[in-house]
Amino acid sequence: MNITFIFYLYFLVANVFGSFNELNTKEITKKQRPNIIFIMADDHANRAISAYDGSINQTPNIDRLADEGALFLQSFCTNSICAPSRATILTGKHSHKNGVTGNGAPWDGSQTLFPRMFKEAGYETALIGKWHLNSNPGDEFNSWKILMGAGRQGFYYNPLFISNDKGEEIIPGYSTDVVTDEALKWLNNNKGSEKPFLLFVQYKAPHVPRIPALRYLDKYMNDTIPEPETLFDDYSTRSHYATDVNFKMGNYRPVPKIGVKTKRKNIQLERMTEEQLLAYHKSIDPQNEKYYEMKKNGLLEGKNMKKYTYQRFIKDYIRCIDGVDENVGRLLNWLDQNKKLKNNTVVVYTSDQSYFTGEHGYKEKRLMYEDALKMPFLIRWPKKIKPGTRKKELIQNIDFAPTFLDMANIEIPDDIQGNSFLPMLTEEPQTEWRKSIYYHYYDHGKHKVGRHDGVRTERYKLINFYTDDLWELYDLKNDPNEVNNLYGNSESKKVLKELTTELFRLREYYEVPSQVFKAPYVPFRGLPSLRD
Ligand code: CA
Repeated sequence: MNITFIFYLYFLVANVFGSFNELNTKEITKKQRPNIIFIMADDHANRAISAYDGSINQTPNIDRLADEGALFLQSFCTNSICAPSRATILTGKHSHKNGVTGNGAPWDGSQTLFPRMFKEAGYETALIGKWHLNSNPGDEFNSWKILMGAGRQGFYYNPLFISNDKGEEIIPGYSTDVVTDEALKWLNNNKGSEKPFLLFVQYKAPHVPRIPALRYLDKYMNDTIPEPETLFDDYSTRSHYATDVNFKMGNYRPVPKIGVKTKRKNIQLERMTEEQLLAYHKSIDPQNEKYYEMKKNGLLEGKNMKKYTYQRFIKDYIRCIDGVDENVGRLLNWLDQNKKLKNNTVVVYTSDQSYFTGEHGYKEKRLMYEDALKMPFLIRWPKKIKPGTRKKELIQNIDFAPTFLDMANIEIPDDIQGNSFLPMLTEEPQTEWRKSIYYHYYDHGKHKVGRHDGVRTERYKLINFYTDDLWELYDLKNDPNEVNNLYGNSESKKVLKELTTELFRLREYYEVPSQVFKAPYVPFRGLPSLRD
């Protein structure tokens, strides 16, 4: 045998085994790495998802994820506003670590972000819809198309987008529909890819100014939507912040009739086409005429005004959610039609935070009370998560990143502050899990919500408005509506001591810098100096 032949034989064998190896690796990679579709709405209250509640509306498509997968009953955010929640989801860290303490805080996209880690691990990644962080994405996704305008909140009609490849463009239609169209387009284009994918679909709705799709404008017109028990909360027993906030269900403010010129421009309505605007006013104007008549006849005095405002508010809110639910249905239908992909695709539905839909007479978020602290979380993973699973463990948005990384078998960085909750969904017996969560709100600005942090356990909640050292303590078992502040109550001394110790422990555990509690806060600028 001459030497050339030996080498030839060697290369032949090495290549054949090499390709087997490659094939095996590919097969294993495909098998072990699920696709993920992360769907997020903006300000969608748990109460307005029928899998959680069902007393005010029905969301059959979103509910499918709970029926066919798992529903988390105690999922919470770390800081209840848009940009901070989004930053926490992407980084797996509390606001003081990722730098986004408030909506105006700068965004450092160069820090470790889980979608970039997916991309580097061979995933095809994309984000479509509301982004809202203060600088555009860079290389953290393979492609992105984000809503622009209205302070990066986006428009409801004929939305403006900016994308990594096309720059700015206006896409005609209704925001929730258009975001889904674009997501389906991406999914169809990506269908032949060998790579697993991670797709973020992020809706603007039902965020203020809550303009529904034309087809939902007249829905619920003659209905009376149930009021929450605390619509007429008197805020007694609580700190002055509960009363001071500027997002109470106040007097209804009607949109001027069609053709009436006003000093202040309505940037959302002026984007509509003539046809859209006519259809909108055809529904709205008669309702407002009725409002002026009721007011003239003294039918909207005192409590009646609040009741009226609530009905107008909640109807637009759930009409916007009808649009979201319908579009979640379109995404799920796509997976139904692409069965091979469906079985290996995780679908998540969440919102950047829940929302006060009249509870305590509010329509906003920010405060650490339950309706703003919560976050809906529904997840489906065929054959991995048992259909109809209900979880009561305390999870938070710091846990999303490590959970997704865990699903994709990507190593979780040590400095991520959350934990993967995948084992509690797929493994028996259940792993140990945290017994308390930490919350911190910084954005002390025009909404008049004082800066506060706090701890919530399964049963209790302690809130500290540290700027003027005010405290609130709630027993959520006996007082689920949080109207009876037990702070200073002699019978609650033991609980207070335990909770205070736990709060101090969590501040240390999550490394909240002590200067936070003393530093003067610049509204809408945040505390950028806190970034490592
Ligand atoms: Ca939000």
